[in-house]
Amino acid sequence: MDKNFYSWIPILSRKLVIGEKLFCDADINNFEKLFISNKMLLSDRRFDRLFNRKHKVSYGRINFRECEECGEKILHLSLNVLNWKGEILVDGDAWIHESGLTKYKVSYPENDCLERVLHILVRDALHSHVHHSSDLPLPPIEAKNGDEAKKSILFEYLRKFVEYKRMIGKVRLKDAIEDIARARGEIVYANSFYDTFRERLADCSDLVSSFKSFDKSFMILEKRLSDRLHLVPPYILVSLSALILFLSLFRESERFPQWIIPLKTISLYWYWPVYAFLLTIFLYFITEAVIIWFFRVR
Ligand SMILES: [Zn+2]
Ligand SMILES: [Zn+2]
Repeated sequence: MDKNFYSWIPILSRKLVIGEKLFCDADINNFEKLFISNKMLLSDRRFDRLFNRKHKVSYGRINFRECEECGEKILHLSLNVLNWKGEILVDGDAWIHESGLTKYKVSYPENDCLERVLHILVRDALHSHVHHSSDLPLPPIEAKNGDEAKKSILFEYLRKFVEYKRMIGKVRLKDAIEDIARARGEIVYANSFYDTFRERLADCSDLVSSFKSFDKSFMILEKRLSDRLHLVPPYILVSLSALILFLSLFRESERFPQWIIPLKTISLYWYWPVYAFLLTIFLYFITEAVIIWFFRVR
């Protein structure tokens, strides 16, 4: 049995319209133009790192045809990643549906799961991020056919949201808020994916309602965290004011009336509690601000 890997490229569906039309249509008929104009494909630091040196991506054998499975128009593309000597590092094929569903097959090297590389190459050419600067890559899924792949991809989205939730608890507040924004952007994609293949995913409506509850909990968390983040400037202000007040009082302490409460061994000045109060305010609010800014969410 042939090993096939599938993934999805959001922008190709041309159904993903949020509010005003934020997405530029990536028409697969203009594919060639897209590839030539996309500098990322020629020199991408991420791939340079992956392949450990400068590399070049080329594509060939482009043709359009109808998918034998679903009848949709597909673009068949063969992709090569070459090093500077022109030796092939990765050789593979992508079959891109108009709906964005894409099948990948790597013919060289074998057994390396480099379908992910092909997916990132194709996706970056056709999809521009709107909600976020980057995302957790949706790894290509092994499936027998397109229909099986659609279900697995939807499940993969669910897995991703669980992963986002886990991630958010492990990073600083500021980063957590960014991650939540990314996660919520991807929920939009996941819903769009479901809408695009609704007939094939009829028995997955439970999954889609769980996307909704994920979105809701991300929204609540985002609100809570950003409220907390907004406390940092006023906290710093309060603590600095307390410090300044303390320092200016301290300088003047000789001029204060010297009322003393004599105890057995020491003398208590009346203004010491005032100093203690101001210093406590300073320490409390500065500590809170530091914790909010530098420490993890949970
Ligand atoms: Zn198909
Ligand atoms: Zn994106």
